[in-house]
Amino acid sequence: MSILFLFLDGVGLGADDPSSNPFALANLPHLSTLLGGQRLLARSAPLETESTTLLSLDACLGVAGLPQSATGQATLLTGRNIPAEIGYHYGPKPDSATAATLQDGGIFGAFSRAGRRAALINAYPDGYFHGIHSGRRLFSSIPLAVTNAGLSLRTAVDLCNGQAISADLTGDGWRERLGHAEIPLLTARQAGARLAGLSASLDFAFFEYWLTDYAGHHQDMSAALTLLEQFDAVLGGLLAAWDFDRDLILLTSDHGNLEDLSTRRHTANPVPLLLVGSPAARARFSSVVSLSGVAPAILSV
Ligand SMILES: [Zn+2]
Repeated sequence: MSILFLFLDGVGLGADDPSSNPFALANLPHLSTLLGGQRLLARSAPLETESTTLLSLDACLGVAGLPQSATGQATLLTGRNIPAEIGYHYGPKPDSATAATLQDGGIFGAFSRAGRRAALINAYPDGYFHGIHSGRRLFSSIPLAVTNAGLSLRTAVDLCNGQAISADLTGDGWRERLGHAEIPLLTARQAGARLAGLSASLDFAFFEYWLTDYAGHHQDMSAALTLLEQFDAVLGGLLAAWDFDRDLILLTSDHGNLEDLSTRRHTANPVPLLLVGSPAARARFSSVVSLSGVAPAILSV
């Protein structure tokens, strides 16, 4: 079987308030179908439909302050309560204490050591690698875990060859902002099909989507709605190509942000754990209540 981990940065379960929560307002037909007509809101969880389980996960982890990306992601990747271990939430990039917890590659390392095929399927532009090698740029927790596991990050060449996907899903950002006119522009549906196709060749595929956190920090409702509606169209393409009996889609986040545009900061809201696939695989997650339960449940599947 294949597991596809869709990591959405900065997405919590918020209130049914269309003035501040784009999830209460956006037209998201594919997500709504999975959730039996419900929206991705705090009041919808827990929820079980024929294809889908929605759980609510604590992202604060018993540590004071608002959750942050580096420690939240490290918790998802290691199955350890990293904020409790180091004493604080930290981000967006890992400090030395957080980075040290990812030395064995977290869940990517576990898959690799078990002889399973795992990959981060995002493509990174050449400038990213130059920044890392020159020391101008630090890895965030996810690519740090991947490289510590001895796995390669995918490149512009992989993206051109259909062996990776851009952080914005369609390739539009690479063409418009990075000047990569050679990158094929995908429709949202094609991007979803690409996610499915890349997953099919792997035991564990991970996709990092950070535009959700970015949109949350910018508090722009109209931009947030456009983003979510595009993501939902990608989800439609993914689901159309997905084997629901065999494979598992897991969608979660590191902390809240986008679900409350009344604040520029992260939130203390729980985050969704959305599982789409066979009831037997989904049942392995039934006792997961916080970010630290996700990795062990994945490895048990
Ligand atoms: Zn953030």
